[in-house]
Amino acid sequence: MAERIVVVGASLAGLRAVETARRSGFTGEVVLVGAEEHLPYDRPPLSKAFLTGGGNGRRSPEPFRTREQLAELGVELRLGRRALGLDAANRTVVLDDGGLPFDRAVIATGAYARPLPGAPDDDRIHLLRTWDDAVRLSSRLRPGARVLVVGAGFIGSEIASSALSLGCEVTVVEAGQWPLERALGAEMGLACVELHRRAGVTVHLGTGVQGIEPHDDGLTARLSTGVRLTVDLVVVGIGAAPATDWLDGSGVVVEDGAVCDATLETAVPGVFAAGDVARRHDPVSGRSVRLENWTNAAEQGVLAGRRAAGLTGSPYAPVSYFWSDWHGTRIQMLGTSDADEAVVLDGDPADGAWVAGYRRGDQVVGVLAVARPAEIMKYRRLVAGRARWADLLAFAKERAARRPALD
Ligand SMILES: Cc1cc2nc3c(=O)[nH]c(=O)nc-3n(C[C@H](O)[C@H](O)[C@H](O)COP(=O)(O)OP(=O)(O)OC[C@H]3O[C@@H](n4cnc5c(N)ncnc54)[C@H](O)[C@@H]3O)c2cc1C
Repeated sequence: MAERIVVVGASLAGLRAVETARRSGFTGEVVLVGAEEHLPYDRPPLSKAFLTGGGNGRRSPEPFRTREQLAELGVELRLGRRALGLDAANRTVVLDDGGLPFDRAVIATGAYARPLPGAPDDDRIHLLRTWDDAVRLSSRLRPGARVLVVGAGFIGSEIASSALSLGCEVTVVEAGQWPLERALGAEMGLACVELHRRAGVTVHLGTGVQGIEPHDDGLTARLSTGVRLTVDLVVVGIGAAPATDWLDGSGVVVEDGAVCDATLETAVPGVFAAGDVARRHDPVSGRSVRLENWTNAAEQGVLAGRRAAGLTGSPYAPVSYFWSDWHGTRIQMLGTSDADEAVVLDGDPADGAWVAGYRRGDQVVGVLAVARPAEIMKYRRLVAGRARWADLLAFAKERAARRPALD
């Protein structure tokens, strides 16, 4: 009998896994299972161009690949089907319509948006993770609408920016004093939040939402500062949780993500994890990490696909990269912000455009570029090679000296 690879989760990581399994020469069956009805599509535009464009008039998302292209690749689709369990002993994924045996499997179920604890069930309170969520949100973002965004993370920030550009009146509340601390470090996170204030978004840091009262004319949020804020809609952007509920009792270790080794294999041999759902040992930092960004999902999908096809793979040790777009400004981060200090190398946060380096000991571990889109990749070699800090400073000085010519 032909061997079968089952990939659970039909989004970026899952798609890259099936494509790569085929490209790696796997000739058996490849099945891609996804809970959403849609073909795999790209999520980053959902909080940006899709909203600012008022939805794009399409009835379904533009897929990465068409049904015909996937058929040509020999990928069998099971869309609108949810995995309920993984039976390692019988090497079967339990779907909501029956069992699906596998020889090797990839867990690519991503993450779901965390709901606001205690929030009432009201269709004016939104989350944003899927195309369907974006369609619902887009229909309410009208000029003059009063919008409360809960959470000043990347998704909340992008939604705030899109809503503002549509003429909404936008307030962002963030429970922490240091937004984006994990991704950018405390100081740089705060500097990025200033971009909101400059653009005209009201931001309250250190402010939680204690309750939301729905009424006919809107929603009144009770803030931890005692303020009562009445708005037309609330968007909750307080982070994402890995979609691992279906792995209970499977033998796959779950600790805020499906735990895997550096080549993405879980505790169940022949079962790999990739993308937002995967928590792996990072050989570079020696720490356990789970990343939620596009590049990580795409790259891990490729590695998991190779492994599922029976090939070996080198440990996943990338130079992490992500971007975000707010108020016409691109924010890009290379490497890690887990550092002793972050130092502005070029430009000035007060002007809304700068490059910062992250130092751990004597080494460069990360670089942030804000409104300097052409700069970030120039620093890649230094971050990848964990260059000496002095070398980074010299390189940055040289680039800054050429600034008028670069601009
Ligand atoms: C609005 C938005 C904007 C973003 N913008 C950026 C950005 O600007 N830059 C950036 O780097 N990253 C961005 N990201 C993050 C990036 O999109 C994610 O890192 C990426 O989508 C992760 O891909 P994934 O395949 O691991 O998981 P997901 O995209 O979460 O897909 C997982 C899929 O698995 C399905 N699934 C879940 N459970 C089951 C189950 N039990 N059975 C079957 N199927 C299941 C889900 O329905 C989903 O379709 C953004 C994300 C969002 C939501």
